Amino acid sequence: MKPAPFAYHRPASLGETFDLLARYGDDGRILAGGQSLVPALNMRLATPRALIDINRLPQLDQIRLGADGLVIGALARHEAVEHSALVATHAPLIAAAMPHVGHEAIRTRGTFGGSLALADPAAELPACVVALDATVRTARRGGGRTIRAADFFRGIYTTALAPEEIVAEVIVPPLASGWRSAFAELARRQGDYALVGLAAHARVAQGVAHEIRLVFLGVGPIPLRAHAAEASLVGRRVDAASLTAAEAALDGDLDPPGDVHGSPALRRHLARSLLRRVVTQLVEGGS
Ligand SMILES: Cc1cc2nc3c(=O)[nH]c(=O)nc-3n(C[C@H](O)[C@H](O)[C@H](O)COP(=O)(O)OP(=O)(O)OC[C@H]3O[C@@H](n4cnc5c(N)ncnc54)[C@H](O)[C@@H]3O)c2cc1C
Repeated sequence: MKPAPFAYHRPASLGETFDLLARYGDDGRILAGGQSLVPALNMRLATPRALIDINRLPQLDQIRLGADGLVIGALARHEAVEHSALVATHAPLIAAAMPHVGHEAIRTRGTFGGSLALADPAAELPACVVALDATVRTARRGGGRTIRAADFFRGIYTTALAPEEIVAEVIVPPLASGWRSAFAELARRQGDYALVGLAAHARVAQGVAHEIRLVFLGVGPIPLRAHAAEASLVGRRVDAASLTAAEAALDGDLDPPGDVHGSPALRRHLARSLLRRVVTQLVEGGS
C-alpha cells in the first residue's frame, strides 16, 4: 500500500515547528527517524494531513553532560546513543539496552525522542528512562515542561505530550556512587520487539540491594515498576531465598496480557526468569 496524500514540511527552527503544530493540530504528525511512522503511513494506520519533519532542527541531536546530568537530545539516533562514550559512562543501562532496539539498520535512523514519544509498550528505552528516574524535557510555544519519565507514559502509544508539544531532550540524573544497572530481554529473534524485558537500576553493596528500581516492558500498557518485588529485595542479601521471595512477589505486580506472541502465563514465566537473571547480574557486577 501507499500512504494517503499528505503535506510535507521541514521546519528549520522550533518557532516554525510550533507554527505548524498550531496550524495542523491533531492532523499534523512529527516525523523523526520515521522507523515507526513511515510503516504506519504505508499501511494507512496513520493518515495525517501533514508531516512535520524535525530532522533539520538544530542541536536536538546532541548528547552532552549538563548541569542536571546526561542530556540526550530527542534527535540523537539510536546508533549514536549506542556508541556514545558519555552514555556508556553515565547511563550504562541505556548502553546495555540499545543493541536490543530493532536491527542495526533501524538504529541508524530511529531516534531516542521518537522511541519515547511512540511509547510502544514493548520498547526498551521507555523502561530504561523510568528505571533511571530520568526526566523528559518538552518544547512548545511559551516554554516547555519537565516531566518525570514515570509520569510521561500514560497508556499504549500514549504519553503526557500535548498535541502542540514535542520531546526536546531527556535528562538522566548523575550516576551516584554504588548504583549499578542491568538489562535483559527475551524476544523470539534478536532485533524483534521483546516478549518481556527488564531494566534494573540499584544501589548495591556487598551483595545487598539497598535501593532498587525494577521496570518491566512488554507486560502491560506502559513500563511497569515491580514495586512488590522491589520491596521484597531491599535490605536483603540477594540469594536463593530472597530471589524466590521476589519471584512470588512479582506475581502481585504483573498482570501481563496475552496475544499472538505469547500467553499471559508465558509472559509471567519469562518475567520471573528475567527477574532472577537481572538481579543476580546486578549484585555480581552490573554495569
Ligand atoms: C522492524 C522494526 C523493528 C523494531 N524493533 C524495535 C525494538 O525492538 N524496540 C524498539 O524500541 N523499537 C523498535 N522499532 C522502532 C524504532 O526503535 C523506532 O525508531 C522508534 O520506535 C521511533 O523512533 P523514530 O525516530 O523512528 O520515530 P518516528 O517513526 O519518526 O515517529 C514515531 C512517533 O513518534 C512521534 N515523534 C517522533 N519524534 C518525536 C518528538 N521528538 N516529539 C514528539 N513526537 C515525536 C511521531 O509523530 C510518531 O507518532 C522497530 C522498528 C522496526 C521498523
